[in-house]
Amino acid sequence: MNCRNCGAPLRPVAGKDYFVCDYCTAFHFPPESEEGVRVLGAWTDMSCPVCRDILVSAAVDGVSVRHCSKCRGNLFKPIDFRRIVEGRRLKSEKLSQLRPLDQKQLERQILCPGCLQRMDVHPYYGPGNAVIDSCGTCALIWLDQGELKAIVTAPERRRRR
Ligand SMILES: [Zn+2]
Ligand SMILES: [Zn+2]
Ligand SMILES: [Zn+2]
Repeated sequence: MNCRNCGAPLRPVAGKDYFVCDYCTAFHFPPESEEGVRVLGAWTDMSCPVCRDILVSAAVDGVSVRHCSKCRGNLFKPIDFRRIVEGRRLKSEKLSQLRPLDQKQLERQILCPGCLQRMDVHPYYGPGNAVIDSCGTCALIWLDQGELKAIVTAPERRRRR
């Protein structure tokens, strides 16, 4: 990505979700996707468990994640994932309707991008909302596009209070 002011290449700011131009010192914020993912674009050390593309660095609510530009899924560390979900639930996002669990998703088997073993597949927070894939060994959670939103707006959250 290049600077819109002067055309120089932009440098990602370490640990942040934006870029800086070293020539004119302008800051650039990549646009957020519908799910609030800002793609920063640097290659990471892992590939997408679904489509095998190399995951790129991205940020969700200022937390760094790995993102697939092709299927738009995201790989989280569990601690970051909890922080994002809890932070978003504090904001008033509308709750979704309970919908039946997608059996096909429960049957899907993908390999952990860290250790290449099968990831655990389980419904998240009760029935009907999202299926997540996780690896306890590597402490990684994979969410397909749309699943973060489904988890944040899960109707179960009301019952948990
Ligand atoms: Zn510039
Ligand atoms: Zn992918
Ligand atoms: Zn693993």
